[in-house]
Amino acid sequence: MDKSSINVLNKRNVLNYIRRNGASGRAEIARNLGLSVPTVMNISQAFIDLGTIREVGLGESSGGKPPMLFDMIPDAYCSVGVDIGATKITAIVADCNATVIYKKIYASKRGLSKSVILEYVTDIINETINNSPADEKKIMGIGIGMPGLIDARSGEVLFSPDFGLENMHIIAAIERRFGKKTMIENVTQAIAVGEKYYGICKDTENFLCVGLGYGIGSAIVTNGRLYKGHRGFAGELGHIVMDRNGPRCDCGGYGCLEAISSGNAIAKCAKERAGRGERTSILELAGNVDDIEAKTVFDAAKAGDAVAVSIVENAIEYLGIAIAGMITMLDLEFIVMSGGITHAGKFLTDRLENYVERHKMRYSGQDAKIVISKFGSDAAAIGAASLILNRWVECGGNPKAL
Ligand SMILES: [Zn+2]
Repeated sequence: MDKSSINVLNKRNVLNYIRRNGASGRAEIARNLGLSVPTVMNISQAFIDLGTIREVGLGESSGGKPPMLFDMIPDAYCSVGVDIGATKITAIVADCNATVIYKKIYASKRGLSKSVILEYVTDIINETINNSPADEKKIMGIGIGMPGLIDARSGEVLFSPDFGLENMHIIAAIERRFGKKTMIENVTQAIAVGEKYYGICKDTENFLCVGLGYGIGSAIVTNGRLYKGHRGFAGELGHIVMDRNGPRCDCGGYGCLEAISSGNAIAKCAKERAGRGERTSILELAGNVDDIEAKTVFDAAKAGDAVAVSIVENAIEYLGIAIAGMITMLDLEFIVMSGGITHAGKFLTDRLENYVERHKMRYSGQDAKIVISKFGSDAAAIGAASLILNRWVECGGNPKAL
């Protein structure tokens, strides 16, 4: 490696250390990264000059003089994050720590032409940049998360069953319009990046993110790295066939997990049963059959409605079987759940834990934990923004190198 590559790598490691550990002293950083104190002094001074980090006070002495601590300046830079979901689009601006400083939710547009969707997303990004409290110059780039098979390198959505879209190019037009680095990733893979570097999974190397909303997606992190597979499409948990005679899925197959356990599937099943005249309070809660949503079914199940209980128990059991299989396969430490269905909270996780326990191999995943993302319904938008934030750290804190 030449001198300048080593310098970028050292900067990346120092910034990554501060991102991970918060306020830190130079000697501590040098010791933990195996760098010399003068090297860390030079790097920290360069970041102070750039306005990326600042002195935040003295730390505890370990014998001698107490060390000066440095921490990230949260609003040094920020990123736009757009979660293009099947039921809603969430646009945010997140600061360097992935804290949301601006947010607006828009209606989603399914079943429309590629050009209409692209124009809509471009308008949303424009409004987000204009309304954000951050100075436009500080917005380093735009991250986008979308369900489906996404070629992150070419910026193409190859196939998104939720949207009924194939071969849609997104990145080039947005980069041209805004003149900012733009990245797109499968939404659950983006969530995994957010959880690994800014969320609940900072200290775990082997975990699975499960997005449980209108559809179902997942992303696998093994040995601390996102597992992308041969072409970048790994993690399509929602389209594993669970029942060869099961209901039709948006992808064209039958009996996929998504066709049984997703929010869309739960709502569909309740609509059918209420429509057939089965006695259930789901209908009263929703008002009429067409307005039944997964949330209505969970609310009715929590109140003890027998039809609702049977629908959600069936959905959660199949999800549990799929997750148990992943734990048995991958020896995971954490399963992080996000997406609309996680509003069901402990009602969901308690049942899921039971089914996972029942269906996983004995002794495997003994200490595996199922948790709900602390980012709540913002997990996907924060994940999208963190694509850019993480790239910035990887580039040694140089926004021009993105
Ligand atoms: Zn499918």
